[in-house]
Amino acid sequence: MENVEPLRVLELYSGIGGMHYALKESSLRAEVVAAVDVNTTANEIYKHNFPNTPLLPKTIEGMALQDFDKLNFDVILMSPPCQPFTRIGLQGDVADPRTKSFLYILELLPRLSKRPSFILLENVKGFEISAARDSLLKTLRECDYSFQEFLISPTSLGIPNSRLRYFLIAKRRPGSFSFLTSAEIIEGFPESESADSLTLPHNQPASSECEREKTGAIIFKMETVQELERKRIQDSQETVRRLQDFLQKDKDMDQYLLAPKTLLRYALLMDVVQPGSRRSVCFTKGYGHYVEGTGSVLQSCVDVELESVFKNLELLSEEDKLKQLLQLKLRYFTPREIANLMGFPADFTFPNHISVKQQYRVLGNSLNVHVVSHLIRLMISK
Ligand code: SAH
Repeated sequence: MENVEPLRVLELYSGIGGMHYALKESSLRAEVVAAVDVNTTANEIYKHNFPNTPLLPKTIEGMALQDFDKLNFDVILMSPPCQPFTRIGLQGDVADPRTKSFLYILELLPRLSKRPSFILLENVKGFEISAARDSLLKTLRECDYSFQEFLISPTSLGIPNSRLRYFLIAKRRPGSFSFLTSAEIIEGFPESESADSLTLPHNQPASSECEREKTGAIIFKMETVQELERKRIQDSQETVRRLQDFLQKDKDMDQYLLAPKTLLRYALLMDVVQPGSRRSVCFTKGYGHYVEGTGSVLQSCVDVELESVFKNLELLSEEDKLKQLLQLKLRYFTPREIANLMGFPADFTFPNHISVKQQYRVLGNSLNVHVVSHLIRLMISK
């Protein structure tokens, strides 16, 4: 095993390198031979953190078959754009121009001079019912891969953040997986990978963030009894860590406090968590900018009870309402804290000129590094 060459990995739709960090965390002998993405901001961040990785700032469909062949890769790690597959919204699926590059990859796969031994794909929940997924499975069957699909949220690894995602791992035959594959989508990790994953709740918010983002409508709503109950159950899961382990300490957080205008307008729509909570909702690219459905906000002063502040809030004058709400010191999670929850290591940083808004945006597009790292190991382990 020792003198085997490192695996050559092609990272498509590389963004800020979530896949690359997952690969590093997996401790496999592997090198990213090329990362490909068109987004200039994401690319700057990628280069900043992985200065030695060849990064191709171009569209995937702009690369020719020979370009791919030259890279001579063994593994593809990819997260195609998720917008065409979100459950609410337009659901452009294969008709959406953003799916074009993915369909191009499927066309290329059978024509490569050497087909990769492993393929890992990440996407939103909703991809599993798309025509793009049907094409993917068809191509994999034709190209003689065994594969397994999953729906996994970081909560199944004890991380207090929901981010339910579709994953597919594929291995070229005669290779086979170390676990029993199933035609069904596995929810959570197979038992051998994470013994307690099946006993943890997989209850997720009813809609994914991408789709919430799209609807954009502001509806005045209170929490339903079921929602409250779900949150209570999540907070009592002791196998899930508390948010406080992921928070930045001794830092001036004033810039992250919610503005009075935001408090007044959105107080009843926000998902509020405390440092002791064992849950948070999925952080999306609109976080820090739009409030509803883009991620939880943190109650940084826990001397006051949330319930007492919200009780009869509607009956108060604007001024008193604000006074009440300000007591909670509600703030946004910082980009670093979100990166922590998403499993990015401490040495992941942003170049100085990248704004906080841009940081939220690229993090919202990225993935949970720990979840993918487990999947990479599951895919490649003998
Ligand atoms: N996994 C990545 C994020 C993926 S989001 C991370 O960890 O950050 C999808 C990415 O695909 C975006 O960064 C977007 O810029 C890129 N992208 C979308 N269409 C593309 C295309 N046709 N060619 C190359 N990159 C594309």
